Amino acid sequence: MRRVPFLDLTRQDRELEEELRGDLEDFLRRGRHVLGEEVLAFEEEFSRYCGMAHGVGVASGTDALLLSLRALGAGAGDEVIVPALTAPPTAVAVSLCGARPVFADVDPGTLTIDPASVEERLTPRTRFLIPVHLYGRMADMPGLRELASRRGLVVVEDCAQAHGASLEGRMAGSWGAAGCFSFYPTKNLGAYGDGGLVVTGDPSLARRLRMLRDYGRRDRDTLQEVGLNSRLDELQAAFLRTKLRRLEEWNRRRRELARRYLEGLRDLPLGLPPWTGGDEHCFHLFVVLCREREGLREHLARAGVETAVHYPLPLHLQPPFREGSSRPCPAAERAAREVLSLPLYPYLTDDEQDAVIAAVRSFYQAHRGRS
Ligand SMILES: *Cc1c(COP(=O)(O)O)cnc(C)c1O
Repeated sequence: MRRVPFLDLTRQDRELEEELRGDLEDFLRRGRHVLGEEVLAFEEEFSRYCGMAHGVGVASGTDALLLSLRALGAGAGDEVIVPALTAPPTAVAVSLCGARPVFADVDPGTLTIDPASVEERLTPRTRFLIPVHLYGRMADMPGLRELASRRGLVVVEDCAQAHGASLEGRMAGSWGAAGCFSFYPTKNLGAYGDGGLVVTGDPSLARRLRMLRDYGRRDRDTLQEVGLNSRLDELQAAFLRTKLRRLEEWNRRRRELARRYLEGLRDLPLGLPPWTGGDEHCFHLFVVLCREREGLREHLARAGVETAVHYPLPLHLQPPFREGSSRPCPAAERAAREVLSLPLYPYLTDDEQDAVIAAVRSFYQAHRGRS
């Protein structure tokens, strides 16, 4: 039996090994470990890739969100609207800055935040909106931007799953006041440990972020305000520069694999991700909706296919958040019961993917036989 891992990062490491060794040797020779030339160069290269003037490297995607919110003035008494279906850090960052996350429902088709639900959650205290480009799919940014400008909300994009996605020719990260990225190892652009970055077009916001990530220092000896220690380190930046040169090629392969899944699974009673075939999706994850999810998961596991669930519990039902006056989010709750992530990453082979498709198909064949 062929085992298909959900994700195998050693394959890309093997391909990049020589370049990464070169990066490590350069790093050891230079003797500069924090906030040096590699971080500056990566900030410049990544923000240019996103079409933005400024990039500020930080320690994680969570910190990218937290520091952006703080730099934009979010704090106690503010409400920040986030989707109910996302990774926990989207809402954790809001709570850490002292504001209150308010959970909006998602669109049942795209599973990204639903502008109509955002509108229903608005109160006089609502100041920020954090759309998440979930699974690599751009949220409805034109609709959300229109709403935000009409209602005076500041938009902070959670781009942790969307490196390289774009909509109407505008990259993820370039639609709001700040675009927040994570380089957690499993992301489309991953470091060898934690890392994050904020892109922005606003030079004064970039300046404030540079202080906030470095204790709040204005210069070596002067503290301007109270910040964090949240710096991207030189070695991660060097590795990320090497990997950034591959990102477009990797995302192309992700889209090719997505196309093959959509073709191979299209006649099955599964909810497949809607997609025009364009760059609005960079397929961080390939997520299907399945009413018999647990049965399908077990069937795939027996066939050697590893799967995952992103996410089994919507955030408004998570212990730290459910005590608030959260309203129901039926589409997110239903999605949480039905979502199943199939293996998809640039180094998945066609043969492996064919084995996944065959295993999914055999589940439905057996099912039909039984009923
Ligand atoms: C990964 C992720 C984050 C947080 O990134 P870290 O680098 O792990 O802190 C935030 N939001 C979403 C949607 C994510 O997937």
